Amino acid sequence: MACLGWEEGGGAWAHIHDRWKWLPDPSQGYSVCGAYQFLTSADAPLDRECTDNVWHNLIPLKVSLFVWRLLRSRLATRDNLVRRRVISDELIMCPAGCGFREEADHLFLGCATLSSVWSLVWHWLQISSVYSCVIRDHFHHFCRMAGMPRSSHSFFKVISFACVWNTWKERNNRMFNNKASDPNTILDNVKLTSFLWLKAHLPSFVFAFQDWRRHTLLCMGVVNLLFHVCSFVL
Ligand SMILES: [Zn+2]
Repeated sequence: MACLGWEEGGGAWAHIHDRWKWLPDPSQGYSVCGAYQFLTSADAPLDRECTDNVWHNLIPLKVSLFVWRLLRSRLATRDNLVRRRVISDELIMCPAGCGFREEADHLFLGCATLSSVWSLVWHWLQISSVYSCVIRDHFHHFCRMAGMPRSSHSFFKVISFACVWNTWKERNNRMFNNKASDPNTILDNVKLTSFLWLKAHLPSFVFAFQDWRRHTLLCMGVVNLLFHVCSFVL
């Protein structure tokens, strides 16, 4: 339940004027009945296959939790904050200044500025593909990369999680620190983050960072595939 933000200070609450406010029902406040409805609400139905797949021993728990919230539309994106009446409707636009509303699918896949890191990731991996503009479908296909050996799928999962994690950090840097990095810098962070996670949690991963940067597929155990083309059926 803490994952759903039910606990004090969690995502279901907003800190307003030094007191906690129960967002699902701002007028009446917290009630057991309201909490039950919040936990069993139909607006974010359980997708067991999708949400269960976020837990992986190569990925830090806080990042898995972040993706779990993302896939359940529980992230504090601006559209969700407007829906919960935390911010006003005028603040719903994407912090990248692209002119679109900040929704999860836009932020992580559709934004010409923030999500353009994905095309750099494809280029880094020497893979060409058509991918979904829906985050759940995107994860599903990226983490089970068509034509790639099953043993490599966990590496793709690590890279995809590192990508959304660093995109979110970039978004927060723009919003709260007034700092902006270009997509190539975000890509560098994705490479480093994924490398550090693998190095920390996979004893058989003996490669140096330069190997990971330059010969990523080989480090993933994918051999004889210098350029791989796959098309997803969406
Ligand atoms: Zn945008």
